[in-house]
Amino acid sequence: MTKVLVLTPEVYSYGSMLIAGALEKAGFRVSIMKFTAKADVNLLPQADVYAIGLYSTLHVLEYKDWISRLKSARDKPVIVGGPVTQIPELVLTNMNCVDAVVVGEGEETIVELVNALISKQDLDSVDGIAYNSQGKVVKTKPREPIDMEKRPMPKIPDDIGEQSIRGAHVYVEVSRGCKGSCSFCQVPRLFGREVRSRPINKIVDEVKLFKKKGALRVAISGGTTSFYGCGSSWLDEKEVVKLLKSLSRVLGPKNLSAPDIRVDAATDGILEAIAKYTIGWVFFGVESGSQKILNKMRKGIKVEEIYDAVYRARKLGVKPAGSFIVAYPGETKENFEETVTLVKNLPLMDHFVSIAEPIPGTPLAEEVADMRISENLLFVNDDSKFGRLYGLSVAESRAYQLMIEGYRVRSPLIIGDVHIAKLFLQEAKKQGEDIRKCTMEVKKLYSLLRGRHEA
Ligand code: SF4
Repeated sequence: MTKVLVLTPEVYSYGSMLIAGALEKAGFRVSIMKFTAKADVNLLPQADVYAIGLYSTLHVLEYKDWISRLKSARDKPVIVGGPVTQIPELVLTNMNCVDAVVVGEGEETIVELVNALISKQDLDSVDGIAYNSQGKVVKTKPREPIDMEKRPMPKIPDDIGEQSIRGAHVYVEVSRGCKGSCSFCQVPRLFGREVRSRPINKIVDEVKLFKKKGALRVAISGGTTSFYGCGSSWLDEKEVVKLLKSLSRVLGPKNLSAPDIRVDAATDGILEAIAKYTIGWVFFGVESGSQKILNKMRKGIKVEEIYDAVYRARKLGVKPAGSFIVAYPGETKENFEETVTLVKNLPLMDHFVSIAEPIPGTPLAEEVADMRISENLLFVNDDSKFGRLYGLSVAESRAYQLMIEGYRVRSPLIIGDVHIAKLFLQEAKKQGEDIRKCTMEVKKLYSLLRGRHEA
């Protein structure tokens, strides 16, 4: 029987468990393993095919040498899938050794691809893949989105209960797609703007399986929980409430979280259900306090809606957190100050600050690819006294300042905590370093794509 080893960096990602589940259902002998760039490829179990899931540009940069060592050591087919394959050239130009990448939703493609590789069939016959052939990237016919009712169950590893992803053992998929069109986000580009939801009974059965394997703390993933079951309408509050109630019955409210909610889809009914059936936190994608930047991000929300949702959440007993993006292209000092003011005024109970990351395939990546390095705030030095002292770029400096402001809102009594300030500084610098690498890769990738297009 053909053996497939599914490899997932650092944690068991939900996508890797789904791919392993699809392969097992098709009759392959499947194992799933976590790895890091330090793992010795010679110690991996033997397999006939290796399938690796990567989900960020950084993963491609961090693991490309490891994957090439794996290929040399085993000389067996190596497949890469995951969100990084949206622009397959990102993987195929960095890793010549990869036999094929799965583009888009992979549950059906992976089964056909493994069969084709094992039987040495022409890869052209497999829809939804890309591969290198005679110095060119060949893309086969895109595959239709899968029917969520028929989506396979994940293969759940025995040690799933030992991992923690932002406090949860696992993020379970309830739907695919998002009605939003935020310019920095991959979700609508990967899964479309139509929301396809899984039936509640299947999600409940899956959560019971996770619980049996020791994954007691479950978070809901998907574009945003509030769109669950919405069909062609903007949202269906009753369906969201029913989902949360059903999952809470299995897990208990202390073990369920429904983190991502858009501020313009946070109805009182949904917020009340979050307070009653989950740990009671929501994470609003606030992003910016500047209406100009929100519009540029195609966020589709007004600053007033942010205030309204956060205050209503507090009133209804929900703990609201917010995520923010700084140094978005075109963000002026004044725009950033508007975000600082928003952070100071909003009663948020946690803050997540990120420097804008150009994810290949998004409108933001296109814009960043076209920008001159000298205009990109990640590469512009902050010439304030503080910026010069720590060698920060403007983007890093803004990320740091916003982290500090958020902390002050939450903990007014311990302003000046040196240890926390140091951690924020390290975090801002690490983000800056990582996103600079991704930016250079995006510029290289888009210049290659455009060159090919023009040629
Ligand atoms: S609402 Fe959330 S998931 Fe949807 S496009 Fe915007 S950031 Fe992405």
